[in-house]
Amino acid sequence: MQLTNRSRDVSNKEQSFMEKLYLPGLLKGMAITGSHLFKKRATIDYPDKKRDIAAVYRGLHVLKRDENGAERCTACGMCAVACPAEAITMESAERKKGEEGLYREEKYAKIYEINMLRCIFCGLCEEACPKEAIFLTDRLVPTEFEREDFIYGKDKLVEKIDKRIDVSARQTPEVLEFKKIKGLKHNELFEGKKISDKKH
Ligand code: SF4
Ligand code: SF4
Repeated sequence: MQLTNRSRDVSNKEQSFMEKLYLPGLLKGMAITGSHLFKKRATIDYPDKKRDIAAVYRGLHVLKRDENGAERCTACGMCAVACPAEAITMESAERKKGEEGLYREEKYAKIYEINMLRCIFCGLCEEACPKEAIFLTDRLVPTEFEREDFIYGKDKLVEKIDKRIDVSARQTPEVLEFKKIKGLKHNELFEGKKISDKKH
């Protein structure tokens, strides 16, 4: 059965004098290389130049803080369960008295890790999160030389308190409308109070 029409019959005939010089083949190769100098390049000079990407591009994750700066993640594990690549692992801990400003809920992620080599950037972790804690952003995962450097912990995932990451492009008008539905449990605190209602 012929799988392709690009196959060639192999010939064992003696090479001619010119073929033995390799000159015609060499010149042909140089002509092909030279012709590419005048063609539009398919590549860009990344990272100096960057391509336009969609507003909802799914890149490097961020673990968000709430309006008071406390970590939103409550280590419920929903994202890890939803992840088809089994890229997310976490260890939970109980919030201590006086840590209300650090962690939004009574339970928080002491360890939270994403293996970027396993992640397929599907966004299902974002969809599954009931606390609006994890979002994918338009940032690219930087290249590394060691495999362990692709295991991203909280040091790389939680947004810096003075350097918030805008995820509004991912909050489509439909999603924002959905979240306004009265009585919706999405994004409420475990005790049913908003953080601003709480007295510390
Ligand atoms: S984007 Fe998809 S594959 Fe990556 S961590 Fe989230 S759920 Fe897993
Ligand atoms: S689903 Fe959200 S709140 Fe739950 S562990 Fe994942 S990031 Fe944290």
